[in-house]
Amino acid sequence: MAAEAHSTATLRLTVGDLRIVHPITVPSAPVPATDVVPALQALVNAVVAAAEAGLMKSGEAISCRKGCGACCRQLVPVSRTEGERLLALVETMAVERRDRLQARFATAQAMLDDAGLSNRAGRSDRELSLAYFALAIPCPFLEDESCSIHPDRPLVCREYLVTSPAELCAGPSQEGVTPVAVPKVSMAARGLQDDGEDWFPLAGLMTWAATRPRSDVRRTGPEWVQRFLKGIGRK
Ligand code: SF4
Repeated sequence: MAAEAHSTATLRLTVGDLRIVHPITVPSAPVPATDVVPALQALVNAVVAAAEAGLMKSGEAISCRKGCGACCRQLVPVSRTEGERLLALVETMAVERRDRLQARFATAQAMLDDAGLSNRAGRSDRELSLAYFALAIPCPFLEDESCSIHPDRPLVCREYLVTSPAELCAGPSQEGVTPVAVPKVSMAARGLQDDGEDWFPLAGLMTWAATRPRSDVRRTGPEWVQRFLKGIGRK
């Protein structure tokens, strides 16, 4: 079988105060948007690394550590493309692991339903986030206070780092938490497949999957990347 052809380009971006030079490689042929997610993850990693480098120069240090999952009880907004990628990942898991995960998703969804947070009901993003955090729902992918899908975690999870003491992240109001100023490139994943596409909470992934609109849109890897880059400017 012939090897799949790929296209590589060097991206030069200015995001916030950061200048990013990043080589990106994607499939040359028309593919689903989910196929370029690894390249987008690498791009977000590069943005985060640049933000971390700037932080180190100013003498500050990131306090996030493996085994601290306080932030994994926040509302994690994911795009349709990332949702589809995560669903594909879950399908590759052994049945026992998948069953445990499905049970955690069901618990999370029941807590959201009980609290009336299954839909926005006119709430602002901020109101929704605070109400969600107050429920302390562990992300279904959180195991032993660590991310069980760390290499595949959503883009937004990569962008959340703090310099404040870890214990503050567990406080109900997040008072005193000092996030690192990482440009939220992840938001460009919203609308990657359809203009105007919104996000949903990661904890609602399975419920969303049951009703999500199917898509067979295929574009070349460079076309998907162009759409993503345009999205960075828009958000
Ligand atoms: S996907 Fe991983 S990093 Fe993101 S909230 Fe869930 S457990 Fe935490």
